Amino acid sequence: MAKIAFIGLGNMGGPMASNLVKAGHDVTVFDLSEAAVKSLEAEGAQSAGTAKAAAEGAECVITMLPAGQHVESVYLGEDGLLAHLPEGTLVIDSSTIAPETARAVAEAARARNIPFLDAPVSGGVGGAKAGILTFICGGAEEAFNQAKPILEAMGKNIFHAGDHGSGQVAKICNNMMLAILMAGTSEALALGVKNGLDPAVLSEIMKQSSGGNWALNVYNPWPGVMDGVPASRDYEGGFLVKLMNKDLGLAFDNAVKNHAPIPMGALARNLFELHAGQGNSDLDFSSIQRFYRSDDK
Ligand code: NAD
Repeated sequence: MAKIAFIGLGNMGGPMASNLVKAGHDVTVFDLSEAAVKSLEAEGAQSAGTAKAAAEGAECVITMLPAGQHVESVYLGEDGLLAHLPEGTLVIDSSTIAPETARAVAEAARARNIPFLDAPVSGGVGGAKAGILTFICGGAEEAFNQAKPILEAMGKNIFHAGDHGSGQVAKICNNMMLAILMAGTSEALALGVKNGLDPAVLSEIMKQSSGGNWALNVYNPWPGVMDGVPASRDYEGGFLVKLMNKDLGLAFDNAVKNHAPIPMGALARNLFELHAGQGNSDLDFSSIQRFYRSDDK
């Protein structure tokens, strides 16, 4: 079992760190939120007052932070972890960030002989709690093999996408498709309901038909159709609209750089931006369903 520092205990990081504790790892956590730290302490983790203190003596550091700027501030610069970690400490960043940012952190790590992996995840909060996330890793084969047994305590499918940044590229493609599928699913459900169909019956029909997809199978956006999903608790928790917008922005920037046309992704990005502008940034992204119900009486 490994001595692990886990930094960033939000909707995803909290349950991920908890699964490492359950697997018997020696886990020290840090988050800016005291409540998040307390809840991990209650599950058997140790805590530290700073990221640097949490990483003291760790064989492996894992971060699960909102966006690129948070990852840069934790790892880079004079005060960043990479300036202080001993050579050989395995560093895994599971946040979803730009491939260029992941490559910059990897380069800073390489300069200090620290193996680094970008390892963003897919599977949502449900997948994080159940320990069945998909990890999409970018980095050297050796670091990947070293990380795999640790990642297996939190995930079911562990992929090596390629060199540094590849994990992030694959993740950005996946989330662009997810945004398109969630918007499309919401649109189809709203059309059916306008026609008097029961959203639960329509969902079951589409699940078994050619429109079936992840949103319908495990993350139905219509309130009351599925238990335990954000739609059934007023879209609280889950994967926030502002984080989906961040990911769609990453896809958009990447598409511009690579001269790749993404008309569907761009439309989804505009839909989610409009939705965020209507005060929904801190709701789960399946709340895009409300966008299609704004004229409901
Ligand atoms: P979140 O906002 O719930 O959690 C982020 C946590 O990081 C918060 O607890 C915050 O206090 C902490 N934090 C921020 N800056 C920090 C710092 N400098 N030091 C220590 N802690 C700090 O976000 P989340 O939903 O857990 O998502 C985390 C990452 O995972 C994001 O990049 C997101 O895009 C990605 N992701 C989320 C989901 C999901 O379903 N929520 C799914 C896959 C990937």
